Amino acid sequence: MIINADLHIHSRFSGATSQRMNIETISKEAPFKGVDIVATGDCLHNGWMKEIRQCNVIDEGTFELNGTRFILSTEIEDQKRVHHLFYFPNLPSVHDFKRRIKSKTKNLESDGRPNVAMNGEELASIAKDLDILIGPAHAFTPWTAMYAYYNSLEDCYGDMADYISFVELGLSADSNLADKIKELHRLTFLTNSDCHSPHPVRLAREFNRFEVKSATFKEIKKAILRVDGNKSILNVGLPPQEGKYHESACISCFTHYSLKEAQRRRWKCSCGKRIKKGVKDRINEKADFGEPQHPDHRPPYIHLIPLSEIITKAIGLRSPFSQSVSKRWNELISAFNSEIKVLLDVKIDDIARVTAPAISEAVQMFREKKVVIKPGGGGQYGSIELPTQDGDVLTTLNLGPKDKQTSLLEYSR
Ligand SMILES: [Zn+2]
Ligand SMILES: [Zn+2]
Repeated sequence: MIINADLHIHSRFSGATSQRMNIETISKEAPFKGVDIVATGDCLHNGWMKEIRQCNVIDEGTFELNGTRFILSTEIEDQKRVHHLFYFPNLPSVHDFKRRIKSKTKNLESDGRPNVAMNGEELASIAKDLDILIGPAHAFTPWTAMYAYYNSLEDCYGDMADYISFVELGLSADSNLADKIKELHRLTFLTNSDCHSPHPVRLAREFNRFEVKSATFKEIKKAILRVDGNKSILNVGLPPQEGKYHESACISCFTHYSLKEAQRRRWKCSCGKRIKKGVKDRINEKADFGEPQHPDHRPPYIHLIPLSEIITKAIGLRSPFSQSVSKRWNELISAFNSEIKVLLDVKIDDIARVTAPAISEAVQMFREKKVVIKPGGGGQYGSIELPTQDGDVLTTLNLGPKDKQTSLLEYSR
C-alpha cells in the first residue's frame, strides 16, 4: 500500500508552538492534507506522552486517533546545537532512551525538544543500542544543523556514521541540491514539515510517500532502510526557494548576497548586521558534483505549494492565516476532501464550480508551473507570485530527478 507521512512536527510542549498542537487537533487536520501518518515529535516529554496514550494502539510502535496514525519520534539539540531526529520502535525504548540521557539534560520535562550535553556520536550509539533510528534534522540550515557545524556525516557522528540511515532535507533544500553531495547518496531523504502549528499552510507542507505493507512503524522503518521491497517512492516539498534560508541574506534587513559577495564582505551586511549563509550556497560549497547525481534508489521529488498560499495570492491578500483564506480553503476541502486532491487531482472545471474563478485559475497556473518564486533568506520565507499576464512567467518548480521527470498528476492518487 501507499501512504503519505509527515515525520517531523512539534507538540504544544515545545518552545514557540501553537497551543493547538494537541493530539486531537493534529489527528483531525492531517487527513485534510492527505496525510495518513504523523510522527508525534516530542515523545520524551511526559505531558505529550500522556496525550499520545489517549490514542488507540495499533501495535507497539503505532497509535491511532480519528483515522490518523502516529509513530513515536523526537528531535534533540546536541551540545553543539545540532538537531537530530529519532524514531522509536515502542514505548519501552522511549523510556530506556530517557534513562540513558537523563543526567545530560536539564529540560527534558520543560521543553518538547530537549537540549542534551552529548555529541552526535554518543546519541547515535545509544540509539543503535535501543534499535532507534537517528539522522540529522534539516541538515543544511545555517543554525542548529549538521552542515552548519560539521563538514561530513563522519565529522558529526564519528564511528557511528554508518548507522545513520536518513537525512532530513529541510524546507530550503530538495533532492536536486542534496544529491550534489556524494556521502548522502546512500541515505534515504526525508521531507517533513517541522511544523509548530496545525494550520494547513504549515502541517504537512512537506511529506514523504512510502510503499509499505501496512501503515505501521515497522513498515516505515523498512521503507527508510529500503528492505523487503519497502521504500520511499516520492518526496514532496515546498520549492526550496520558499525556505527561510535558501539564499545567503542579512538576518536583519534581509538583503540577499551571492556567495562571492558575502565572502568579500566577510559576512557583514551593509546595514552592519550578519549575513547568514544560505542552504544553496552551503550545498554548493560542499558539492562533489556540479550537477546532481541521483542514486538509483532516489525517488522523484515534487514541489507543492500549500493551497492556502495559492488562495492568498489569488484573492490578493497578504496573509494565508486570514479568515477569508480559511473560508475559501474550507469550501474546497469540503467539496474534494483533501488538499493534495485539489492541488493535483480534481479537474479545474470542477474546482471552478465551487470557488472563485481567480482561485481555480491560480491552481491551474500552479499545475502549469507558472508561479514565480521570490527566494527566501536570512530567516525570511520566500514568497510566490502569480504571473500577471500570459507570457510573464518564470518556471522555478522542478519535477525531480531529471531521468524520472514526469507529470505532477502521475503522482496523485
Ligand atoms: Zn530543528
Ligand atoms: Zn542588513
